[in-house]
Amino acid sequence: MNGDLIKIKSGKIDVPDYPIIPFIEGDGIGPDIWKTSQRIMDVAIEKTYGSKRKINWIEVLAGEKAFNKTKSWLPDETVEKIRECVVGIKGPLTTPVGGGIRSINVTLRQVLDLYACIRPVRYYHGIPSPMKNPEYVDMIVFRENTEDVYSGIEWPASSEEANRIISYLENQFGVKIRENSSIGIKPISEFGTKRISKKAFDFALENNRNSVTVVHKGNIMKYTEGAFKNWAYDLAKYEYKNKIIPYNEYKDSGIILKDVIADNMFQQILLRPSEYDVLVMPNLNGDYFSDALAAQVGGLGIAPGGNVGDGFAMFEATHGTAPKYAGLDKVNPGSLLLSGVMMLNYLGWEEAADLIEKSFSETIKQKYVTYDFARQMEGATEVKCSEFGERIISNMNKI
Ligand code: NAP
Repeated sequence: MNGDLIKIKSGKIDVPDYPIIPFIEGDGIGPDIWKTSQRIMDVAIEKTYGSKRKINWIEVLAGEKAFNKTKSWLPDETVEKIRECVVGIKGPLTTPVGGGIRSINVTLRQVLDLYACIRPVRYYHGIPSPMKNPEYVDMIVFRENTEDVYSGIEWPASSEEANRIISYLENQFGVKIRENSSIGIKPISEFGTKRISKKAFDFALENNRNSVTVVHKGNIMKYTEGAFKNWAYDLAKYEYKNKIIPYNEYKDSGIILKDVIADNMFQQILLRPSEYDVLVMPNLNGDYFSDALAAQVGGLGIAPGGNVGDGFAMFEATHGTAPKYAGLDKVNPGSLLLSGVMMLNYLGWEEAADLIEKSFSETIKQKYVTYDFARQMEGATEVKCSEFGERIISNMNKI
């Protein structure tokens, strides 16, 4: 392998000038959007840093490509390589149908303890949106990735396990649960809450953001979602004193910490989006809000995402493999490309990230777009995925 490995030192990454970064091209439209995104990233890095910095990409296999070559959807070698290299990026993968198959997202999340699902949501001028003022949306969701009803502790109705839990609750606590009920468990821990809140607080501080909002349903689920809110406030009070300041103690400096109940928050993001900035929330709320917010600024076709732990990180397109467009060089590479922008920012290569973001935005302003935007934009020129990429590259000279 040419290049050097990224290292983790005290939970932070140490990035060499020629880092080795594994990529998973993805299934379906994956190869098209990867090819375009990789080229844009390489050109932006070269334009920004000359020969002083360069990513040494290595392909690792997952999904259909892996299955066809190795009969495994996620070879152990892939997981090991990503662990060794610390940071990676992936296109969308087909979800294999059938039992006993490991999901790549779940496996990587568990193996690398990628506990924060981070989804920035901002508007690029000209993108079709259902909002009157989509430019007011500029938020970043920090979704807890390992707990809540996603921990997979659940049993079907009438199973022996469900029945045993129902009778245990009745015998031990006098709690009555209707017969033939399914059972799911919602664990939310102080540890899990504080570490995701810390990620959100640190991001807010490092990026001079105005506020952090805890989104919860603690009015009903007092000891899970309510505790999430309380632990976030505790963390601010004891570990971020004078930096992250609860709304009722806020004077005029520092970052304000507030909380909003999830159902109200759905109105807030539509009616008063400019009042919100960094959001932190448990897993299920995060799932809903990431996609709802993405829809406000143009949909999943351009929504980037990253799963991040203490050092380890995997950036990924948030949409699926759109199989009907596979190999047509047709779809929007925006989601994967902007995930690449997140990755460059994570590496500390902000200048290259900024160049891509600005020329992406410029290309959309020129209405030189892929079919998904062209069909909703008046006077647009519909272009292929690769042509869109080439225009982004040529626009870099104007930035
Ligand atoms: P999908 O692949 O996201 O596609 C649904 C529709 O979204 C497409 O038909 C297309 O809309 C639009 N779309 C998606 N990506 C686009 C892009 N880059 N540019 C423009 N439009 C885009 O969802 P799906 O059909 O439900 O899932 C297909 C496969 O992907 C399944 O196997 C699923 O399990 C998998 N999946 C993987 C991931 C992941 O790896 N992270 C995530 C979700 C789904 P139009 O038809 O309107 O043009």
